[in-house]
Amino acid sequence: MTDCIFCKIVNGEFGTEFVYENEYAVVFKDINPKADKHLLVVPRKHFDSLKELDDEFLLGKLMMTVKEAAKVCEMKSYRTVINTGKDAGQEVFHLHIHVMEGNIRL
Ligand code: AMP
Ligand code: ZN
Repeated sequence: MTDCIFCKIVNGEFGTEFVYENEYAVVFKDINPKADKHLLVVPRKHFDSLKELDDEFLLGKLMMTVKEAAKVCEMKSYRTVINTGKDAGQEVFHLHIHVMEGNIRL
């Protein structure tokens, strides 16, 4: 999607550093961290939210990406969060998984 900030990040338009990436997703630090370590796992393909994701294979790959990124970033104990819908706190409407460790405020 042309006006989606996470699509732009995926496409490298902002020069965002990826702490981890694979064929399915990129992982970068949240710009406004709600924990000592706060990563976002973002699929390369655009889905507005979890509601629009109907690909079980990709869902599995995204959860594997959570594990791989956490390992690379030496996170031993972490929380994963997916906000789905405005009333649940979703602000960016490109599916993403929060991965947080330490003093979590989300
Ligand atoms: P959510 O409320 O689940 O939609 O989470 C969106 C998250 O994206 C928030 O934690 C924001 O701090 C984060 N965010 C928004 N813009 C950027 C950006 N340009 N780079 C990194 N993180 C961002
Ligand atoms: Zn997008």
